[in-house]
Amino acid sequence: MLNDAHCHFFSTSFFSALSQQRGRGDAVAALCKELDWENPGQPDALADRWVRELDAHKVARAALIASVPGDEASVAAAVAKHPTRFVGYFMVNAAAPDAVAHTHAAVYSQGLRCVCLFPAMHHTPLDDERVKKVVEAAAGGEAAVFVHCGQLSVGVRRALGLASAFDLRLGDPLAVARLATAFPAVPFIIPHFGAGLLREALMAADACPNIYLDTSSSNRWIRFTPGLTLDDVFRAALAVVGPGRILFGTDSSYFPRGWQRGVHEEQRAALERLGVAAADQDMIFGGTFDRLFS
Ligand SMILES: [Zn+2]
Repeated sequence: MLNDAHCHFFSTSFFSALSQQRGRGDAVAALCKELDWENPGQPDALADRWVRELDAHKVARAALIASVPGDEASVAAAVAKHPTRFVGYFMVNAAAPDAVAHTHAAVYSQGLRCVCLFPAMHHTPLDDERVKKVVEAAAGGEAAVFVHCGQLSVGVRRALGLASAFDLRLGDPLAVARLATAFPAVPFIIPHFGAGLLREALMAADACPNIYLDTSSSNRWIRFTPGLTLDDVFRAALAVVGPGRILFGTDSSYFPRGWQRGVHEEQRAALERLGVAAADQDMIFGGTFDRLFS
């Protein structure tokens, strides 16, 4: 069994938002051409594209992240079309005046299961009252909360020459721990093992049984700690939180590149080298995700 806890749903409205930010009036088709990426078309079509891709790689279920605030409807359409294959995540800017309304609608009406906060991107500290309100709205609908911490670089923004004025100080796993302590029934997910803040992510997860770590991406943040390897990262994470709180993910996003098989192979090989039991690997590669999003 294989589930991917971290894929981005780069919809037409995602590209429209980026085009608007760039302010040159480019149509989505032109933007995709510039990137040499497939034009996603309607959400239904993109959802079908994803299902074909997951089938090709024998991936049972995937989290799809609406990757710009306000794009919940795209992922909701994908989930509605393929409810057994997708779990809907959505990005919210907690500082926006409509953040709570969007969270409420996404969780209660649109069937989405996880709100994604990017405190460094949206310049909103996690102990801000507005963040608490968003988490309360998610908690009421039994949704999870994903908080991006550590290094943040958004490839598509770079490729389009968009400025990214991120405040990296705000993506601190220890601040997630504070929030997770206040909402003990809400699962919190820290992606990429904390993206450079591994020690803090492990400390946070050690303190809070409701904090989960996702393994997604090529984890290039490893280069910030001299000598650290992916094997070391998995060994430490397994020792602190165990396989029941580790969620495999790839951070796949656009087509034609599609599902990032190499990430899976690399992580599978690391766990094999560590001699991790098959049952524990099953949890990491799918069981934990199914338990969280049954
Ligand atoms: Zn991602």
